[in-house]
Amino acid sequence: MNGIFDTHTHCSCSFDSSEPIENMCKQAQKLGLVAYGISDHCEVNRFFPDSYYNQTQNKDNPYNFKADFEKSMDSIEKAKKDFPNLNLLCGVELGQALSDVKTAEKIIAEPRLDYVIASVHEMPPLEDFYYLDYSKLDIDELLTEYFENILKLTEWGKFNILAHLTYPLRYIVKYQPNLNLSKFEDIMYETFKNMAQKDIALEINCSHKNLSDTMPGLPIIKLFKDAGGKYISLGSDAHIANNIAEGLEKGIENAVLAGFESAVYFKNHRPTTVEF
Ligand SMILES: [Zn+2]
Ligand SMILES: [Zn+2]
Repeated sequence: MNGIFDTHTHCSCSFDSSEPIENMCKQAQKLGLVAYGISDHCEVNRFFPDSYYNQTQNKDNPYNFKADFEKSMDSIEKAKKDFPNLNLLCGVELGQALSDVKTAEKIIAEPRLDYVIASVHEMPPLEDFYYLDYSKLDIDELLTEYFENILKLTEWGKFNILAHLTYPLRYIVKYQPNLNLSKFEDIMYETFKNMAQKDIALEINCSHKNLSDTMPGLPIIKLFKDAGGKYISLGSDAHIANNIAEGLEKGIENAVLAGFESAVYFKNHRPTTVEF
């Protein structure tokens, strides 16, 4: 490969990371990445303080992402100056954009952003998939709603990268280890056609916590290719410096097996191709 890049990582501007941005940038530089992107969390349905939603602040699933987002933008802007030899990219991982489209569109209009990764971590009023008790839920119904959410997200389509498709499986796999996703192929195919049309990249998330494969796995990456998908993005989802670029070999291997010859990163919302 003509250089490795990692565009899905978090620093201490994300509620679930305590790694200073300097450590992340130092490690990316040490690894010699051709591009390195920080994409701190910005959950749109929790953008304002808890009082705005008549809720109570909870440290595990907090509110007021507005403050985090502003801090992240300022920190990345400063790090770009502090690490002039690093091809540092300013991203955001935008969760649940459709919960408040007006707010989401204001966030993505931030001029310092190089790219936007869209994700679905929760389906309100349910909490993040991480916290759900799957023994009490209809998993089939839950996944149907999840894939419908993702389809709608791509109909809106104002983002560059779709994050970790199949994210709920990370937790569901403990309850249903042999879950078959074939019944969701039609809706995924429709989703992928939207992405192809809008030049949205499919992220191969390489964190594979609890999973033996990437998120999504090879059959789904192949389906993306069949639907005319053009761009693949790669991310470790590192929350500590030592995990930057971890697992990317597996992601690249899957991309190649699915028929892709390159991956892309986005700078100023425009794709740059890196050949494998
Ligand atoms: Zn995520
Ligand atoms: Zn992430």
